Amino acid sequence: MTRPLVPRLAIIGAGLIGSSLARAAREKHLAGIIAVADRDPGVCARVRELGFADEVTTHAAEAAKDADIVVACVPVGASGAVAAEIGPVLKAGAIVSDVGSVKASVLEAMAPHVPAHAHLVPAHPVAGTEFSGPDAGFATLFENRWCIVTPPEGADPAAVERIVALWRAAGANVEVMSAQHHDLVLAITSHVPHLIAYNIVGTAAELEETLTSEVIKFSAGGFRDFTRIASSDPTMWRDVFLHNREAVLEMLGRFTEDLTALQRAIRYGDGDALFQHFTRTRAIRRSIIEQGQETAAPDFGRRAAEKPRHEDS
Ligand code: NAP
Repeated sequence: MTRPLVPRLAIIGAGLIGSSLARAAREKHLAGIIAVADRDPGVCARVRELGFADEVTTHAAEAAKDADIVVACVPVGASGAVAAEIGPVLKAGAIVSDVGSVKASVLEAMAPHVPAHAHLVPAHPVAGTEFSGPDAGFATLFENRWCIVTPPEGADPAAVERIVALWRAAGANVEVMSAQHHDLVLAITSHVPHLIAYNIVGTAAELEETLTSEVIKFSAGGFRDFTRIASSDPTMWRDVFLHNREAVLEMLGRFTEDLTALQRAIRYGDGDALFQHFTRTRAIRRSIIEQGQETAAPDFGRRAAEKPRHEDS
């Protein structure tokens, strides 16, 4: 028998991402022992039924004790509290990581609780769906998706390499960058698009009753896709906006300026400006498909009903 990549892997939070990581670790034999902690006893009972963990507990510290790698899979606003809970039991050389969609604030919240004899190497698998909880996870979620690893300055290279190796083994492509750079990039690729979805669905819901029911009845691909994104977990997304405030506000400012330019083009009948803009954006879509991050097949919002659809959150 070959030695598993991680003798004891602790996963704190058995939601979509935590349960997907546990399932991937189990299916690919990445860990000797998979210990899962979730504060909700009902969720723990469900995890036992689903059978993707060797140990299940409501206490994060119990799962983290003797672990080689501990991954916090909780909303970013809870990562500091989780680090405070597990910090005292971490063994020498243990690596603490997370999966949060925001990185600078997570680093700041977790770092004070990680003892000097352990390492902190945050990460963000840029993969997900709009569903939550242990039943929503699946082992192939990270397959061919990106995982961004954001080690703090001066991080132990061997610890960084172990987190990179874990995500590669889970099927992801890995890139290493600073937490600040991550937050700026994700603000425009994920956070602002989610805010736009939350906003447009909210606007439709505020219309007079007859108009709202027609919006739902005749919802074409565009609006229907927005409703899928806007059904994402409210706790997770509240935390994303509270914790990536500066980068989101910066990108929202640019977005608003560009929207005003489009508004002007419509007002003054500037068809050339609209055509040039739409031609540029069409090329971006093509390069995403070429890089294997999406398929060119038509969807019109139907795939979501058949199987979980990847979302880059
Ligand atoms: P989820 O399915 O809602 O699961 C969240 C987990 O965190 C649950 O186990 C929940 O416990 C636990 N939790 C919530 N608040 C907590 C607290 N205050 N203290 C301790 N545990 C707490 O969410 P998810 O989608 O897996 O998201 C988890 C993390 O992954 C977030 O940081 C998110 O930013 C990141 N992420 C999400 C996606 C995505 O598309 N969803 C993609 C990439 C990264 P209970 O069982 O008690 O509710």
